[in-house]
Amino acid sequence: MSVRDIIILGCSSQQPTRFRNHGAYLFRWNNEGLLFDPGEGTQRQFIFANVAPTVISRIFISHFHGDHCLGLPSILMRLNLDKVQHTIHCYYPASGRKYFKRLRYGTIYHENIKVVEHPVSKPGLVHDDGRFKIEAAFLEHGIETIGWRITEPDTRKFDQSKLKAFGVKGPMVRELQKKGKLVVDGKEVHLDDVSWIRPGDSIAVVIDTRYCQNAVDIAKGARVLLCESTYLEDHALLAKKHFHLTAKQAATLAKEAGAQQLILTHFSARYQNSKGFEEEAKEIFPNTYIGDDLKTFPFKK
Ligand SMILES: [Zn+2]
Ligand SMILES: [Zn+2]
Repeated sequence: MSVRDIIILGCSSQQPTRFRNHGAYLFRWNNEGLLFDPGEGTQRQFIFANVAPTVISRIFISHFHGDHCLGLPSILMRLNLDKVQHTIHCYYPASGRKYFKRLRYGTIYHENIKVVEHPVSKPGLVHDDGRFKIEAAFLEHGIETIGWRITEPDTRKFDQSKLKAFGVKGPMVRELQKKGKLVVDGKEVHLDDVSWIRPGDSIAVVIDTRYCQNAVDIAKGARVLLCESTYLEDHALLAKKHFHLTAKQAATLAKEAGAQQLILTHFSARYQNSKGFEEEAKEIFPNTYIGDDLKTFPFKK
């Protein structure tokens, strides 16, 4: 699978509505399917999105409020039913281990898939297999809550015309990459003479937090920031009281972090449509999109 996109499976906050399912976000990246915060009904949302749940390889739970994890039991059961052969890695705040266990073993079923739990107890690097790395930051939500950042490695790109000009061809390219320099026809060629580094892309997921520096840091320079905006600025006091963001704050966060694109989600049921969120955020961060249910955001290389 070479597809790279973010599928919004739901975008409500605590209460789903007629038009908004509980949150859940699937990020398809190369051969992996990263599922963030599966709320109730996630399994069915996969059907509406026309995506097989078997694509899931890693599940992230930011925190253990119900709207971020009540879909976990049925998703794990579904993967069992589908007898997925690959390992399912699950990442969550370590302080919520007992909730994870309850969700994982809440009903009777025969477990025949391999689930590996990764309780996260400190910020920083969580995983790096050379294909991408996962980093965690602790946010401000009244209970332990994690913001995530996924980054692919930098890659070296060769400039074909420069390779030709320097007379580097065939197996010499690999040798140059290995040694850093080569002598071709009596002339020294350095790797940087004929190639450049393409920085790896990052996505950041900041869901359920007050405005805080850790949220800005985890989203630094991200290609895409998926961010909660539960309220509009009119309800800034409520946002603060309940440890949430307004659309304006989410946009400020994206701007401060130097992110390239902002996708808003986790909307309070008090707002019938999402227009206000878009307008409020765009004043500060023009490249803002509303993550309505079943919207897909391609994430091209
Ligand atoms: Zn929530
Ligand atoms: Zn919450």
